[in-house]
Amino acid sequence: MNKFFFTPSGFVCFLALFFLASCSDNEGVIFSTQDDVNLGAQVAAEVDSTYRAEGKLLERNSANAKAYQHLDRIVDRVLNSGQVKYRTEFPWTVKIIRDDENLNAFAAPGGYIYVFTGIIRYLEDEDHFAGVLAHEIAHADKRHSVRQLQRDYGISLLLSVALGNNAGALQQIAAQLAGTLAGLRFSREAETEADDTSVIYLGGTNHYACDGAAGFFMKLNAEAQQGNPPEFLSTHPNPENRVENIQQRARENGCSTTSATDSDFNELKKSLNL
Ligand SMILES: [Zn+2]
Repeated sequence: MNKFFFTPSGFVCFLALFFLASCSDNEGVIFSTQDDVNLGAQVAAEVDSTYRAEGKLLERNSANAKAYQHLDRIVDRVLNSGQVKYRTEFPWTVKIIRDDENLNAFAAPGGYIYVFTGIIRYLEDEDHFAGVLAHEIAHADKRHSVRQLQRDYGISLLLSVALGNNAGALQQIAAQLAGTLAGLRFSREAETEADDTSVIYLGGTNHYACDGAAGFFMKLNAEAQQGNPPEFLSTHPNPENRVENIQQRARENGCSTTSATDSDFNELKKSLNL
């Protein structure tokens, strides 16, 4: 008999393994939402320190107060749409990374959102930018990131990362989410769900055109056709007919597709010299 199973911690571990194994057939997430927040906090700290070391993280301090004031106004309209499931459970923070050439945005589990200045510079319409943010918020709120990471890393390794006990895997996950390492790609199903959900969130704002994400993807597709595939597509694959799908959802939902004023977005760009 193996003595291992008779130690109290060993027995708990054995039970936990048995429980996890019996659940792993489920398509769903077996992480608790608190695990999402713990993992996200670890990933966000890693992302922050990486870009801070490169001098690219725009800190939330007085020097960047104006930029964040306008960014938060846009993000908060989406978060307060009444449609975000984990509105109160997740901390929901958004940070800007200075890289004017990078057309990307990403969401760590638990609602830690990052946008590169490249995507802010590239877009002209606040509805389109709100659509990108709504798409990212949907990935966190629908728990796509954590589901994908579970598939890629396995539950026990991921839990060790959430507890702060696996610095190597943490670095890799942070780099994958940011698109600097290939590997983490959402499934096409997750992409379609994030697109559909962006329509619901934007519709709930009673402010933005609910097909705002379609405008972003139209621009992105044009860029890709010029042989210039943006970083966004490396972490977010392009499902078939995505623009048509978003517009069809908007029609089905009967929500407003009237474009909102661009005042917050223009002020955001101005304060970042974009
Ligand atoms: Zn996506």
